[in-house]
Amino acid sequence: MSEQSNNTGFATNAIHFAYDAQQEQGALNPPLHLSSTYTFESAEHGADLFAGNAQGHFYSRISNPTLDILEKRIACLEGAQSGLSFASGMGAISATMWTLLQSGDEVLADITLYGCTYAFMQHGLSKFGVSVKFVDMTDTDALASAITPRTKLVYFETPANPNMRIVDIQTVCSLARDAGAISIVDNTYATPYLTQPIALGADLVIHSATKYLGGHGDLVAGLLVGSTDLVNQVRVEGLKDMTGACMSPFTAMLIMRGLKTLELRMQRHSQSAQTVAQYLTDHSAVKHVYYPGLVEHPQHELAKKQMRLFGGMIAFELNGGLESGKALMNELKMIQRAVSLGDAESLIQHPASMTHAAYTPEQRAAHGISDTLVRFSVGLESVADILNDFDQAFSACHEPSTGSLMAKDKAVIRNQTLDQLRSVRHLTDCV
Ligand SMILES: *Cc1c(COP(=O)(O)O)cnc(C)c1O
Repeated sequence: MSEQSNNTGFATNAIHFAYDAQQEQGALNPPLHLSSTYTFESAEHGADLFAGNAQGHFYSRISNPTLDILEKRIACLEGAQSGLSFASGMGAISATMWTLLQSGDEVLADITLYGCTYAFMQHGLSKFGVSVKFVDMTDTDALASAITPRTKLVYFETPANPNMRIVDIQTVCSLARDAGAISIVDNTYATPYLTQPIALGADLVIHSATKYLGGHGDLVAGLLVGSTDLVNQVRVEGLKDMTGACMSPFTAMLIMRGLKTLELRMQRHSQSAQTVAQYLTDHSAVKHVYYPGLVEHPQHELAKKQMRLFGGMIAFELNGGLESGKALMNELKMIQRAVSLGDAESLIQHPASMTHAAYTPEQRAAHGISDTLVRFSVGLESVADILNDFDQAFSACHEPSTGSLMAKDKAVIRNQTLDQLRSVRHLTDCV
């Protein structure tokens, strides 16, 4: 399995690709190469390595044999030529942008972005003379008219964090290509098991491996894949000289352990999310559910086209105001209140009372975050227990002591038996 094969399946590649146990004394798992530096055979060998005339490792900020396996594996899973690892998703994003941009350039980014990516573009890049225009990339006419000869990069997430908008990868990347711009897709929410943007025309794909790729909430890491030319450029400029945000071999080992179950986990996350999304849709406490697997999602057809399954992330809006979100957060028992996503544990967060509590309601509105928006990362627990936790929390929110939450009919909720909920159409029926 050390050679790339187009004939092996996703899960097989996620488990075996780029590693041959027989080369490592039969060790089933790749060894951890905990070496900061690498010895040269001779002075001439050292010179050749530094000049790029010989292949090999010389310092672990630039490359490392353990990271090498992970980088080849993620490139294989994404259908890309090369991969590169970083200390965090933001490390990957900043190293890539700093490599590809210079003062006077312009970036076009989608209006919905992960908060720190938005901050990096809005406040970080502007300090260095790079301008960033935010456009609604679900509106390809708006995008086409926003691209100018100065546009160097086109950047988006799909599904977008946190409102689950879907961007048409093929259309946007071909517009970028025609304009001579490099397209970058943040594939954190979908993972390569659900979507492979490179095959749809993307130049580079970025991951916060902290999320589904690691999958167990025990690491922070980033990955980049794309053409060998572009990835090498980011390695020797953005990573080596600008950010130095290299991944530790120990983290690479944990990500490779996570990748072994990525297919299984994404299937279960997606299946449970479909059930939970349906439950929330039918619940009178809930005003709106954003999940691409629901036929009501305005881009359901596009999601079906570019996603194998619909993933484990749901956003929803409650009836009531900010207090209704707070009350729900505080009544949940098994579901954990936390940022991040893609873990075995179900994680919930209410931006208006938690991550964005310091914003004014006007500022939140400008960022598309309503006071009742809730983001839910559906975990791998028994789905009945996830539904039960929502049920008991919604019921508790009814009590006058927790405020005038949702004007809903208790009897309706009681009649929604878990049996009915379990019989909702599963994901496999709609892809
Ligand atoms: C978390 C996240 C990031 C940032 O990654 P870190 O590993 O936290 O640095 C980038 N994009 C998306 C979509 C994310 O969810």
